[in-house]
Amino acid sequence: MTPPDLFDTHAHLHFPEFTGDFAAVLERARAAGVRRILTIGTDVPTSRAAAEMAGREPDVWAAVGIHPHHAAEADDVVLAEIERLAGSAKVVAIGEMGLDYFRNLAPRDAQERVFRSQLGLARRTRKPVLVHCRDAHEDTLRLIGETDVREAGGIMHCFSGDVGIARRCLDLGLLVSLAGPVTYPKPGALPDVARYVPGDRLVVETDCPFLPPQPHRGKRNEPAYLAITAARVAELRGEPLADLAARMSENARALLRL
Ligand SMILES: [Zn+2]
Ligand SMILES: [Zn+2]
Repeated sequence: MTPPDLFDTHAHLHFPEFTGDFAAVLERARAAGVRRILTIGTDVPTSRAAAEMAGREPDVWAAVGIHPHHAAEADDVVLAEIERLAGSAKVVAIGEMGLDYFRNLAPRDAQERVFRSQLGLARRTRKPVLVHCRDAHEDTLRLIGETDVREAGGIMHCFSGDVGIARRCLDLGLLVSLAGPVTYPKPGALPDVARYVPGDRLVVETDCPFLPPQPHRGKRNEPAYLAITAARVAELRGEPLADLAARMSENARALLRL
C-alpha cells in the first residue's frame, strides 16, 4: 500500500531530542508518507539551527521566530537577527510567534510586543505567520486582526479552540492546524473543529518532539506519527485518508509557496 502524501507543518526537528537518531527519524517519516517537514525556530539559536537544517535537507523547510516563552529576552538586537535569518534560503514563514497565558513564562506586555513586531516582520517580508496561542485567543486574534495578515496568510498551529474560534481564524486568513490532541480520548471541541474547517483550509502537524498522538503519549513525538493524527482527522470527516492527506499537503504547499 502506498502511504498517504503528508506534510508536517510544525516540527522542531532541529531540537536536541533528535540528534541521536536523526537519520532514522527521517527514514521513518518518509516510510509513513511524510514527504515534507517545516521545522520551526523558537528563539535566535533554534531559528538559526532550523534555517541551517533546511539548507542541508531537501525535504525540510524552516520558519524563524521568537516563541512567547522567550519574549522577555527578545530585544531589538534579537528581533533584527530574526529579520536577517528570515532572508535565508528555504525560510518560508515567520514563527512561531504568539501568546501563551497558560504557562506565562514571559510577562504579557513582553509577549504582546514581540508578537506585534513579528506580525509586522511577516507583513513586510510577505511571509506567512505561524501562530502559537494558549489560553489567549481573544488577545491573539485581536493582534492578528490589527496587523491584517491576509495577504500572505498563516497557520493557527496546534489549534486548541472551538468551532467559533476556528471560524474567526478562517476569517482572519489563517489555516487551522490539528495536532496530536485530536487523537486523545478527551479531545474537547477538536472533533467538531476537524469536521467544521473546509478541506482547503485544514493542515496537520506533529509539533514534535512534543504532543505525541494517543498511542505514543508520554514518549518523544516524531514526524512519522503524523500519519496517526491525519488518519483520525480523516475518520472524523468521513473522508478517505489519501484524498484528505493530499489536499492538506496542497494547502501547506500553496501557503508556503513550495
Ligand atoms: Zn507552539
Ligand atoms: Zn512548536
